[in-house]
Amino acid sequence: MTATAHVEACLSRIAARDGEIAAFLHVDAEGARARASALDAQPDRSAPLHGLTIAVKDNIAVAGQPLTAGSRMLAGYMPPRDATVVARLLAAGAVLVGKTNMDEFGMGSSTELSGFGPTRNPLDVTRVPGGSSGGSAAAVAADMAWAALGTDTGGSIRQPAAFCGLAGLKPTYGRVSRSGVVAYASSLDQVGPLARTVRHVARVYAVIAGRDPLDATSTDEPVSAVTWRADLAGLRIGVAREHLAAAEGLDADVKQRMEAALDALRTRGAVIVPVSLPHTRHAIAAYYLVATAEASANLSRYDGLRYGQRAPNPQTLDALYTHSRADALGKEVQRRILLGTFALSAGFQDAFYQKACRVRRKIADDFTQAWQSCDLLLGPTSPVPPWRLGEKVADPLAMYLMDAFTVGPSLAGLPALAVPVGVDSQRLPIGAQLIGRAFDEATILAVGDVLQRAFDPTLEVA
Ligand code: GLN
Repeated sequence: MTATAHVEACLSRIAARDGEIAAFLHVDAEGARARASALDAQPDRSAPLHGLTIAVKDNIAVAGQPLTAGSRMLAGYMPPRDATVVARLLAAGAVLVGKTNMDEFGMGSSTELSGFGPTRNPLDVTRVPGGSSGGSAAAVAADMAWAALGTDTGGSIRQPAAFCGLAGLKPTYGRVSRSGVVAYASSLDQVGPLARTVRHVARVYAVIAGRDPLDATSTDEPVSAVTWRADLAGLRIGVAREHLAAAEGLDADVKQRMEAALDALRTRGAVIVPVSLPHTRHAIAAYYLVATAEASANLSRYDGLRYGQRAPNPQTLDALYTHSRADALGKEVQRRILLGTFALSAGFQDAFYQKACRVRRKIADDFTQAWQSCDLLLGPTSPVPPWRLGEKVADPLAMYLMDAFTVGPSLAGLPALAVPVGVDSQRLPIGAQLIGRAFDEATILAVGDVLQRAFDPTLEVA
């Protein structure tokens, strides 16, 4: 197939379905067509992503395409350059189709908290696609793009991938450059791919991973190639008791799918090892303090002067700040700025922010302990299948609790991969989460590939 034919197929899907799904905030049809025909004219097609369409989450800068990060605050903003990850995709021959919808600044788990309206799950339009990279997941699930970039601070790649029946990788913290990515919580944010198969995810990952001098937190730890496996003989897969406990609100169908996943892995030679991550139940509290504290600092730049919308005719400087921020930032974003500012404020910093940092260390230590007896961990991505639009949007805490299993690896900086493992009794997709040692993406990708193909033997391996 030519790049042009592939791009036209994606654009037709967008024309046919995106009115209802709303995966995209911006579609660059002309840019994609021009790029495709330029690629088709090249004799050399050996670039790793030659002619493949990729949708980019709207908190990642693409030169010449508007960027909002899902916020009215940034409406009309045109980034002056490509994010490093975008430059790398282009150098690898990818075609960028557009920018995808997201919860405002990445704050949410359903994409209902976008300043520009919700995205719907293409597999069941009454349901959410997950979030915050819900637009990226929906675009791939609806065949509007071959793959997508998302960002993940506490689950935002893994959970929408799981909700839309896709694979999605949050790399190790420091593995992928954050340069040109709108900051939410800088000690947690990572960019990663979503795609139909683990192998496709691995292809995009190989292109974006690696040291970038523009991001001081990116590392030059070597990126090892994935060795694809036919079986898992000798591999030790840990299962944390806390990840299958009803106490975390685990849905019975999700639990049943995890047991099916473990059976499939055992059949292929893996040894299942019970482990414990005793601080799991404190992960949400620690995450929602650390993430909001960092967000309150990062979002202070949107003051109506240096960045963002400016309220008309303010009488004082304070009024300018207050009205610009109160008018242009959504309620959830304001709630988190307040929470984070409080957690950092003099007198409360020790009781909240510092304590959360200590809990974060304990959570990381739990994983280190687990690596004594296993090579990777398997558990659920989300405690529940995709819920209905509107079901949790008025209850912030109910929404936060949905991140119970994804925020732990984020706090510990570990790589984690969502892998589709079939559907529940209502035919809604369920995703397992594979968690790896730091910088060992190769193992979770190899195991994820075996796991995905166990549930879908017809899957192409290209
Ligand atoms: N749902 C989590 C939050 O709202 C994680 C979001 C993300 O990873 N960007 O913070």
